Amino acid sequence: MQRNHVTVALTGAAGNIGYAMLPRLASGEVFGPDTTVELRLLEITPALGALEGVAMEMNDCAFPLLTKMVLTDDVEEAFDGINWGLFVGAKPRGKGMLRGDLILGNGPIFTGQGKALNKAADDVRVIVVGNPANTNALIAMSNSDVPNDRFAALTRLDQNRAMSQLAAKAGVAVSEVTNVAIFGNHSKTMYPDAENALIGGKPVYDVIDDHDWLRGDFISTVQGRGKAVIDARGKSSAMSAASAALDHVMSVERPTPAGQHFAAAVLSDGSYGISEGIIYSFPVTSDDNGNLEIVQGLTISDFGREKMKATEAELLEEKQVVSDAGLL
Ligand code: NDP
Repeated sequence: MQRNHVTVALTGAAGNIGYAMLPRLASGEVFGPDTTVELRLLEITPALGALEGVAMEMNDCAFPLLTKMVLTDDVEEAFDGINWGLFVGAKPRGKGMLRGDLILGNGPIFTGQGKALNKAADDVRVIVVGNPANTNALIAMSNSDVPNDRFAALTRLDQNRAMSQLAAKAGVAVSEVTNVAIFGNHSKTMYPDAENALIGGKPVYDVIDDHDWLRGDFISTVQGRGKAVIDARGKSSAMSAASAALDHVMSVERPTPAGQHFAAAVLSDGSYGISEGIIYSFPVTSDDNGNLEIVQGLTISDFGREKMKATEAELLEEKQVVSDAGLL
């Protein structure tokens, strides 16, 4: 998509992921070297002080393409006329908190943000990062007049993690790995699909002989990667989450190379026998205008089908929780 100027809202802009995203958003890397960028930085009121500090650093980077930054705790001001909404801010999971409590705690944030999107530009696109991302995206979508096909939740990080594992196992550069699909929820139930992935244009199952690994440790490593990073680093992944969110934006903004696809959680239309009405990760392509289409016709084994159904079941449960709470 070629444009001269883009207005981007980032929620949770003073958080860890926001900190890793902001310089790259303003540098020209994401929207191109000829596109100026205005940033709307949304935070909760107590975090506005920290946000000031982040904005000071952004100013000190002296990015030539950054025309303006608006720092605000007012969602309507943040979303007025935006082309992109990067929904990163969410309530953190407290110790011992159940997933259901997290879902309900985040509900009001995403109903309000969905409604405020009505002030966005006609071409607005949204990527939800804040967890539970799929269901937060469903809440925002359900509370907004913006067309459903503009909303996605981030599973690109899971795709990137899967690509990196496959490249390491095959002993090749990550650039050799393509067409890794992620099915389902951005959670431990997500299914990284190696059966349709390619290494150097050849099926992964032909390149990697260790099929037990592909059906076992590969999947559990990708599913558990977030926790492994927390265990090693003492903090949750932020750089890789930010990078994946920007990969998502770039993949939506540019046409997908022929024969390739990327992972994004979008509204299910019943493709691959998955229930309609949940935000489920599929292999998708983008056209030249940022419209996403679910790739059809991938071969799914019985093994893969079982995994796809397990993650679908989790999303249906999450939907029930927010539906019962009147959030949809
Ligand atoms: P981070 O910036 O590290 O994370 C933000 C969100 O991204 C969390 O929900 C986190 O989920 C999620 N996330 C999704 N995928 C990943 C991943 N792979 N790795 C890590 N995180 C992932 O959180 P911070 O606490 O540093 O910052 C959050 C900011 O959001 C705070 O500044 C807070 O004030 C703000 N906030 C803003 C709101 C708003 O603008 N209306 C509302 C609520 C909060 P998880 O918790 O599961 O790691």
